[in-house]
Amino acid sequence: MSGYKILGFIGDGIGAEIVPEAVKVLNAAADAYGFDVEHLGPYPCGAHYWVSHQMMRGWPEEVTSELFYEADGIYKGPTGLPDLVGRLPGPYLPVNMRLDLDLYANVRPCRLRPGVESVLRGREPGDIDFIVLRENTEHMYVGIGGFLRRGGERELAIDNYVQTRKGCERIIRLGFEMARSGAYKGRPGAPADGKRRLTCSCKWGLCKGDDLFKDIYDGMTGEYPDVEPDSTWIDSWSYYALMRPGFYDVVVMPNQYGDIMSDMSGAVQGSLGLAGSINAGERHCFAEATHGSAPDIAGRGVSNPTSMILSVGMMLNWLGEKRKDQRLMDAWRGIDRAVDAVLAARKVRTPDLGGSSSTEQFGSAVAKAVKAA
Ligand code: NAD
Repeated sequence: MSGYKILGFIGDGIGAEIVPEAVKVLNAAADAYGFDVEHLGPYPCGAHYWVSHQMMRGWPEEVTSELFYEADGIYKGPTGLPDLVGRLPGPYLPVNMRLDLDLYANVRPCRLRPGVESVLRGREPGDIDFIVLRENTEHMYVGIGGFLRRGGERELAIDNYVQTRKGCERIIRLGFEMARSGAYKGRPGAPADGKRRLTCSCKWGLCKGDDLFKDIYDGMTGEYPDVEPDSTWIDSWSYYALMRPGFYDVVVMPNQYGDIMSDMSGAVQGSLGLAGSINAGERHCFAEATHGSAPDIAGRGVSNPTSMILSVGMMLNWLGEKRKDQRLMDAWRGIDRAVDAVLAARKVRTPDLGGSSSTEQFGSAVAKAVKAA
């Protein structure tokens, strides 16, 4: 076997800084845990690529749709630049990864790590350790809708909020399974009381799609007697998540709510630069940081690569579980521990965490810690 085929993309803005550090750590993990990687890319793609190629396409010609289906795992730096939103003639890649690859689960951990301060006062490492589990293929982002144009003016805009039984069932079931296993967490259960808990958060009673989401959740609770059920309206959850974050373990929610709440979780865990995530389905998975291209700091080599490093680590864990390859699951744990060790030492830290180290210095420190473990 020539190794796991890992397809990579750099993206826009800080993608060019954080992606090489994630690749460095991936290679260190492959050495340390004894598996082989065949790198496809990382290829450029994104808004900047469109503009610098006469608006012809957002990705290189050699990146075909087939590559996405053949790859064992995929990672992508953030794509999009604020000045170009709505001005590009097409998508950033030949496939819409979330929809075409049916990556229905967006897993976004929020853990207060050693050596890091939350924006919430008085919280110690380990006091906060929850996962925002975002449904990733439905809700407001299905792209079913459009504009009514009259006389050249956009007069009416319609977005349809779509929720299906299949879509709700599979993400909620995954939520129960994740609460049971403690996957991607520092330790299983909620930090405050150790209970395995799945919180359902949406706006039932108001939106029909959320009524369906909540009903399906309620109907499934009996199948998981070891997981404590808990439901909170999404507006209330944005309050409780700040007031009592330690109560939460896994929190499942429809697509757009999860998109917004996971950025808030970035602040809760100390920086968006720490917020890793995977987009996962049954057959494919791609790693992508929770944040965007951060144009306000791009090009200075000061962005925090932890988000991208953890995302790639989570992707290895997903692949390890699917292929029953313990080396990959161990590699994720090794990367997770290495990030903690570097943060706890407080010697190498990027400016978002109050330090003065570069993106490259932080990535190298994590790669070294992975090899040392
Ligand atoms: P952003 O997430 O890029 O940045 C928000 C804030 O977080 C900024 O202050 C930024 O400096 C900081 N930040 C983000 N990542 C960081 C890191 N790794 N280290 C240190 N600080 C970090 O949000 P935005 O500015 O609203 O969006 C910029 C562009 O990114 C937009 O064009 C948007 O469409 C795009 N975007 C892409 C994705 C994606 O590809 N998945 C996700 C969100 C936004």
